[in-house]
Amino acid sequence: MISEKVRRIGASPTLKVSAKAKAMKAEGIDVIDLSVGEPDFPTPENVKEAGIKAIRDNFTKYTVSDGILSLRQAIARRLKEDYGLDYGPKQILVSAGAKSSLFHLVQALVDEGEEVIVPAPYWVTYPECVALAKGKPVVVPTREEDGFLLTPEALKASISPATKALILNNPSNPTGAAYTREQLLGLAEVVKGEDMYVIADEIYASLVFDNFKFTSFAALGEDIKAKTVIVNGVSKSYSMTGWRIGFAAGPAEVIDGMSKIQSHTTSNACSIAQKAGLEAYEGPQYEVQKMVSEFQRRRNYCLMRLAAVQGLSCFKPQGAFYLFPNVKSFYDKEAGGAKIRNSYGLAYYLLKEARVAVVPGDAFGADDCIRLSYATSMTNLEKGLERVVEALGKLKTSRKVKRVALSNAPTRVRKAVPVETVGEAKMRDALVAEMESHLGYEGRYDWNARVRGAVVQLRTNVAHLNDFWVENFPPAGGEAEVKPHGVVYAVDGIAGREPRGFYHEPTQTGVLVNTDLYASLRGLALGLAMDIAARTGGAGTAGAVRGMSADLDGSGLVLVGPPGTKKTELFFGLLADRRFKLHSNDIVFVDIAGGRAAAENVERKLYVPTTAVELDPRLAPLFDRSKCENVVVRKDDCQDLECQRADDCRLDRGSPYCYKAAKGVHALLDPAWLGGPAAAVKKTNLRWLVLLRNDATSPAVVELSKDEALRTLEAGEAAGAKKSLAAGQVQPFFNPHLLGPTPEKIEAQRVFFGRLLEVTRCMLFNSGVAGADKLVEIVTAGR
Ligand code: PMP
Repeated sequence: MISEKVRRIGASPTLKVSAKAKAMKAEGIDVIDLSVGEPDFPTPENVKEAGIKAIRDNFTKYTVSDGILSLRQAIARRLKEDYGLDYGPKQILVSAGAKSSLFHLVQALVDEGEEVIVPAPYWVTYPECVALAKGKPVVVPTREEDGFLLTPEALKASISPATKALILNNPSNPTGAAYTREQLLGLAEVVKGEDMYVIADEIYASLVFDNFKFTSFAALGEDIKAKTVIVNGVSKSYSMTGWRIGFAAGPAEVIDGMSKIQSHTTSNACSIAQKAGLEAYEGPQYEVQKMVSEFQRRRNYCLMRLAAVQGLSCFKPQGAFYLFPNVKSFYDKEAGGAKIRNSYGLAYYLLKEARVAVVPGDAFGADDCIRLSYATSMTNLEKGLERVVEALGKLKTSRKVKRVALSNAPTRVRKAVPVETVGEAKMRDALVAEMESHLGYEGRYDWNARVRGAVVQLRTNVAHLNDFWVENFPPAGGEAEVKPHGVVYAVDGIAGREPRGFYHEPTQTGVLVNTDLYASLRGLALGLAMDIAARTGGAGTAGAVRGMSADLDGSGLVLVGPPGTKKTELFFGLLADRRFKLHSNDIVFVDIAGGRAAAENVERKLYVPTTAVELDPRLAPLFDRSKCENVVVRKDDCQDLECQRADDCRLDRGSPYCYKAAKGVHALLDPAWLGGPAAAVKKTNLRWLVLLRNDATSPAVVELSKDEALRTLEAGEAAGAKKSLAAGQVQPFFNPHLLGPTPEKIEAQRVFFGRLLEVTRCMLFNSGVAGADKLVEIVTAGR
């Protein structure tokens, strides 16, 4: 497993969109890419020549880590000439792109837990860069009405004792907003009084329009300069994105720290590119001006086209080469059945419908907008905007009644808790007293359920658990009339207690502390009911089998095996054959009498992992109508790495939730919804016990003798099964619901399964080499 800090970040969304556009182009689809973050102009000839000369001169070795002196001097001269700034070569570090400068800078400044203020909309890399340094990005939203500029008041309000720096991107990617000298002075006033740095990302400084006068933050005074580190580079100004030359200029101490880091990371920026960069800064500058006037022309054209779109408003940028229109009025509209819910959804729609690639604003911390880049030819802009305007015009107000929201209970605890057996009655009494005192009478739910022959009473303060409980088990009558055989407490909100389960067998009392997950409650109730059944049924004739069961003309088959043996897949395969009826997806209670093993499903609903949609997509609309637990509604909670890698996320496409994004997500599904009431049965007579294993070499099916079967069952692991249980976590009889398996209980299981094996046939089935077809074949042949 990769580190948590990396798992939490996503790949650069802008690069991902561009990659998608490129992939579509490669498939022959005529995509217009308005997501690009680089000028479409060639690198100036003189600069290219300088690079070629460097190669010819064999300038192809390591350079000093900080960057060649001549380049650092050239950068110093440019900073002086353009902004009136004085920096010595020791105050400048050349890196492989401004992105690299930024990473080294944040690593050099920020310690774990320190805060870095990031005004939003922000360039996608800032929060990730801070998070990777174990700092805390403090995102401060700006308002379109304020020109997307950070105000001194907002800055002041976001500063805390933990603040280490502010990242100020001027002009901004993605909004193109630029700060005037006066506006910067307002921010500088706040910074002056604080012990903090300003990371001034001025990579778009040369690209400003309408005679806007750019001011570098460091140029606001010596005191401010001492707290400022400028980040800049040749990528945007000289159309040199691929050359990878960026720099930082700031206090010698900071630059020195960055230099140490760089000496251990990239060593130095590419030697050839450094020579080219030197030429860029030293050589004639008119190419930059040519580019700026072309960008200005394109910006004006795009603004004009967008102004004609109803429902869309666009801020007029002073710099960079992006537009950041507000498209919120298109959310909740639809076209051709596709409903737009957010910026991801709109970007996806534009890619599919208009074949235009744009970047969702959410990636920049502003979901109301999308980013369009005009760093592409006028022809592309004309075509691209034409298509965007047309596609937006097709979006109609949704006429459908809004769908009922998903019934989804997120739980605090996500894993079933261990259940400890309590021996002493005194301890049980103390636990019960503690639970009762916590429950009080307000917000308390009591409910008698019938779990097979037993009446089990739930006492809880968790509404969600009560909900699932009442829905899943049939009622046993009012509290007053029926005396429960067992009681389960599920009490949440007890300070200072870990989530845990307890069980006192003599009084059939279960206690769940600080656990709001239904899996724990259900497991405890079933375990309790198994004990009661074993105690009250005839000796060794009553018990339970943990497995998935189906019925074929009154004869039952149960699939038993540890995780990793494709139990669910086989089960669904079996049910695809309409002759088989669904019996239970988890556990069956059995009574053996008269040579028959009468098996009952004691639950009203199926508590199914929603990942089952991968086996049967028809489940999704059924889950939509079921009570659910922990369904993923935010991309941050997605654990499906494969899906993330494929970059095909339904949440991105505007779906409000995803059923397969995480494990341990459940729906309480009505079995009759799967194929009508006739396709499910409550009772069957077990005839086949199918133990599962999963390997590449064993035979598909082996009939097991009673002794062999008993041995396999008791060991809790089928030979060759994939070990997906943690070591030492073997489950006797493959039954995790067995509470505190004592030697007596294991013996009772042995007797029960011994009897069961006398009236059923047992086979060991290898799901590694055979599928449901084979199983169907054997079972139907052996009827
Ligand atoms: N800062 C901003 C705001 C940017 O938009 C970019 C490029 N997209 C960079 C830094 C990084 O530039 P470089 O190519 O020099 O790494």
